[in-house]
Amino acid sequence: MTFFSMPVVDLLLVITTLIFWVVLISFGIISIKEKEKKAAGIFAITAFLFLAIYLWIGFTGGIGMKWAFILAPYFLLLVIFFPLGSKFTEEDIIPIGKIDERDVMFSRRLLKEGTKRYENYYSEFPDKKLKDDRFRKKPGLLSKNTTYYDPMIFAAANAGFQTVETLATEIDGEVNPEKVNIPAEKLSLFLKNWGKQLGTSSVGITKLEDYHLYSYRGRDHNYDKAVKQEHNFAIAFTVEMDKENMDTAPKGPTVMESARKYMDAGSIAVQMAWFIRNLGFEARAHIDGNYEVVCPLVARDAGLGEIGRMGLLMTPDLGPRVRIGVVTTNMELKTDVRIPDASVIDFCERCKKCAIVCPSQAISFSKRELINGVKRWQINQESCYDYWCSAGTDCGRCVAVCPYSHPDNFLHQMVRFGIKNSVLFRMLAVPLDDLFYGKKPKSKAVPDWMKL
Ligand code: SF4
Ligand code: SF4
Repeated sequence: MTFFSMPVVDLLLVITTLIFWVVLISFGIISIKEKEKKAAGIFAITAFLFLAIYLWIGFTGGIGMKWAFILAPYFLLLVIFFPLGSKFTEEDIIPIGKIDERDVMFSRRLLKEGTKRYENYYSEFPDKKLKDDRFRKKPGLLSKNTTYYDPMIFAAANAGFQTVETLATEIDGEVNPEKVNIPAEKLSLFLKNWGKQLGTSSVGITKLEDYHLYSYRGRDHNYDKAVKQEHNFAIAFTVEMDKENMDTAPKGPTVMESARKYMDAGSIAVQMAWFIRNLGFEARAHIDGNYEVVCPLVARDAGLGEIGRMGLLMTPDLGPRVRIGVVTTNMELKTDVRIPDASVIDFCERCKKCAIVCPSQAISFSKRELINGVKRWQINQESCYDYWCSAGTDCGRCVAVCPYSHPDNFLHQMVRFGIKNSVLFRMLAVPLDDLFYGKKPKSKAVPDWMKL
């Protein structure tokens, strides 16, 4: 009996059948755990059909047919995971000019009619007044009479934001006059490992660049203050936002989750800043309501991800389902090398899921445009905020439905691997995500324990 005789072929067929059947079943089980009924059903049907076809071939097929069915799934895997891809074609992405925090909706919403600040701003930008008058007529974020008003959930979210405010006094502080000299590499490694213990999902370090900074501050007593670069390094980190809460977007749990993660990011940033000051160097934590830097840009340059269609940082493991914290310092640190990942941009070009579900049509369906010298997408922040003011929450539908936002488990790690590596897989992944999770995935129900 030779190696290629019938029994060996049968053995290979059995092994192949078992491997792929077990993988399909495990994908089904993962989907059940994720409460994705449709995906679980499709995996179950696929596993059943796969088993039935392979058993039929095993009992009735000739040797040629059996070889074809043994090799087919491996060949398919090779095709979809074989590295074939896009690269950034333009010069690296360094913006010309800076963002003025006074133009950001969180600053504009604080402008009060009849004040000098209000008059100055809108006399300079009368077109923005027309847009802002629209949201001012609506109830507002975390207000009564909004679509998703819920007294407990909104009070809990507010509690989170109020607690972050109490950290404002700690973002800066006294520096230990006695400098402790530790090599930059050791400090950087310590910060990263400690960051993990504090609850971060990823930590990166970059040189702080002028374009990372806002040109002017736009809030409270710092309004109109020009931002000066005082530090040379920035530590950026992400914290994961809970998938179950985000999947309820735009309902209340999403804004509760936002507040909770702004709080987590703020507390970690403040601790890191105190750590550095204790070692004798200046450090400032950039937290909700007190940013001098544009966090997604710093995080991108620290190697934590790319900026996608919805204008948010897309991290490799959790997509946009993260909040970012930043600490700037003059303590010498070892910076990370950013490896630009063009697969994210290529996938966003094909996907458009966030734009499809956005209730305010704030996300562009078009290709990236040249804005401030950089090719990127820009969301319509007025439309987005306007929607928040009638919903009462910070919406988050775009984050919830993004295919990169799926949980970081074996199933989605394989998908992300394929997306990163192969343009063929990226072409397949968009329709497959639509098939398994819906082209417009439904907003999930508020968890029972939160209901009145
Ligand atoms: S939903 Fe799709 S298009 Fe939008 S950011 Fe995510 S991957 Fe990109
Ligand atoms: S948060 Fe909501 S309204 Fe704003 S861009 Fe995302 S989906 Fe659109």
